[in-house]
Amino acid sequence: MFTLDKFSLVVTTRCNLRCKLCDEFIPLNKPFPDMTPDEERKILDAFFSVVDRVGMLHLSGGGEPFLNARLDEMIDIAYEYESRFDRFMVFTNSTVKVSAKLLDALKNKPKLVVHASDYDITPERSAEIHGLLRDNGISVRIIKYYGDNQDYGGWVDFGAWGARGETIERLESKFTNCGITKHMRGNWRTRDGSVHWCQRSQRGMELGILPDYTGDYVDLFSDESAAQKREKFRLLTNARHLLSCDHCSGDHGTEDASKRFPAGEQLMGETM
Ligand code: SF4
Repeated sequence: MFTLDKFSLVVTTRCNLRCKLCDEFIPLNKPFPDMTPDEERKILDAFFSVVDRVGMLHLSGGGEPFLNARLDEMIDIAYEYESRFDRFMVFTNSTVKVSAKLLDALKNKPKLVVHASDYDITPERSAEIHGLLRDNGISVRIIKYYGDNQDYGGWVDFGAWGARGETIERLESKFTNCGITKHMRGNWRTRDGSVHWCQRSQRGMELGILPDYTGDYVDLFSDESAAQKREKFRLLTNARHLLSCDHCSGDHGTEDASKRFPAGEQLMGETM
């Protein structure tokens, strides 16, 4: 059986916030169209023809997933594959009101957790959202990103996109020590069928900022066989670095492994 720890679908690249250190660079780029239920189904069909089972299936951003007006349908579609995942997570920044149809889709779903980042930007609304979800029996995991004791100590700065021309040793060190590798063992994610190990690689390539490093992802819609795609997943799982790592500061933004920055700090004035 071929398994992965997680798989994440980027259901939107739109966001209502404008976070300064957004690692998706959402505020400074035009959004792509939201993922549709049909696209989700095509991706999940292709994915589960290659991968037998995942530990966690995510509907995430990009931007703020609750802005996708068809998220309710997408949750129901994901549950058609329930026998193939152990846990299911939907992400939110805790600032977008929950529609009645979304609430219905979230209710009575075994394995489901809402992963709610809280930046204390709209405290009353966020408390209302968390309360509504919990009152309806929905499991909510709140990630505190303000004040003292922020999750992960705050955010990291992945730095500028330019190629650094670093040595293999340095690339391996960054890759091995970055949170995507060290803590997550891969943040497998896709918006269009190209499944990347990390969001930096996925986002950089979809924006055309990074070269198309074909070895850094698995294209679910390529002509390769399922066995060839599985082999590519294995190669990436056992990789010592990505070519994308040369365009990234690694986990810390500096050589100081403890360096963290205020989460959710809002940009003022900058435009796309
Ligand atoms: S590009 Fe490399 S070093 Fe940067 S977050 Fe991704 S895996 Fe880690």
